[in-house]
Amino acid sequence: MNTKVVRIKEEEKTRETLEKNPGLLEAAEILKNGGLVAFPTETVYGLGANALNEEAAKKIYAAKGRPSDNPLIAHISCMEELPAIVKEIPEAGRKLAEKYWPGPLTMIFPKKDIVPYGTTGGLDTVAVRMPVDPVANCLIHLAGVPIAAPSANTSGRPSPTKAEHVIEDMDGKIEMIIDGGAVGIGVESTIVDVSGEIPRLLRPGAVTPEELSSLGVPVTVDPSVTERFEGTPEAPGMKYRHYAPKADMTLVEGDMDKVVAYINEQTKKAEAEGKKVGIICTEESQDMYQGGNLEVIGSREHEETVAHNLFAVLRDFDARKVDCIFSESFSKDQLGQAIMNRLCKAAGYHIVNI
Ligand code: AMP
Ligand code: MG
Repeated sequence: MNTKVVRIKEEEKTRETLEKNPGLLEAAEILKNGGLVAFPTETVYGLGANALNEEAAKKIYAAKGRPSDNPLIAHISCMEELPAIVKEIPEAGRKLAEKYWPGPLTMIFPKKDIVPYGTTGGLDTVAVRMPVDPVANCLIHLAGVPIAAPSANTSGRPSPTKAEHVIEDMDGKIEMIIDGGAVGIGVESTIVDVSGEIPRLLRPGAVTPEELSSLGVPVTVDPSVTERFEGTPEAPGMKYRHYAPKADMTLVEGDMDKVVAYINEQTKKAEAEGKKVGIICTEESQDMYQGGNLEVIGSREHEETVAHNLFAVLRDFDARKVDCIFSESFSKDQLGQAIMNRLCKAAGYHIVNI
């Protein structure tokens, strides 16, 4: 298959201009006809298909190499599109939608029959999000159907935050890629299950638990958010190894000085064995390393920069063909929770505490 790449520039991203953009209109046609289109959202690039068309959803699983019991998130463009796909909107869901939609929050609702099991991985619930990114929102609107859109990466690889990442993984496998430049946030949406008694955080993201509870909606945190998952997961995607770079990765926790000393020591050892070592450091620490191949992930003072660069750094180390990676750690509150969740998974929970 020949994958068409359509570039949309910053100045073309007003709703009025987007609605007339020939590339976006063509993308909407492809989606209506059961094809696949990758597009930017504020979190990561998504791989879209008509969420109500089981055959189209199947194509997503094939292109990503994703296990078919890992459910897809249905994306809508406005609140009016929600009742068509969910059986009820619980009070907590309504409150959270008012505050955080459109935005980087996904909620789980009981599904209506119109949503096929091929989209929900066999579950009676459906995950729904309303992206705020102007390109994503307009494309969903133009398609006129909810769009299932997992991250547009090969399953198991780091999520794509630039169109180049999508091209790496999806060229030749899908009809079209919309290149809207680098995404803003860089980690996937926060997922909250509002289908039960008490809302439950299933995946941390840019909407933090601190923010969720500030609304007066009590939210419990699923253990899989902070720990390695064992047993039957609530959000089925949690059981799969995620975001993994090709190299063995070790996450090092502890006081800054000790972490740096440990990584320096391990790097020296590994390099003596002829290994190529990658180090994930921060603006604050970059001058403290003596060897290895450094990637600055961002600034500790501005954790949003760390989230923004996280997946690109993992992909860069794949491209540089390092044998092992050592990474610094981050606080586990606010956005740090989402950052550490992704880093822990990337490291396959190989964590050293100094
Ligand atoms: P992704 O599309 O890669 O961002 O991943 C979507 C994730 O959302 C899945 O891996 C699940 O963990 C979660 N998810 C989607 N639908 C449901 C659902 N109905 N119930 C629970 N979790 C879900
Ligand atoms: Mg994903």
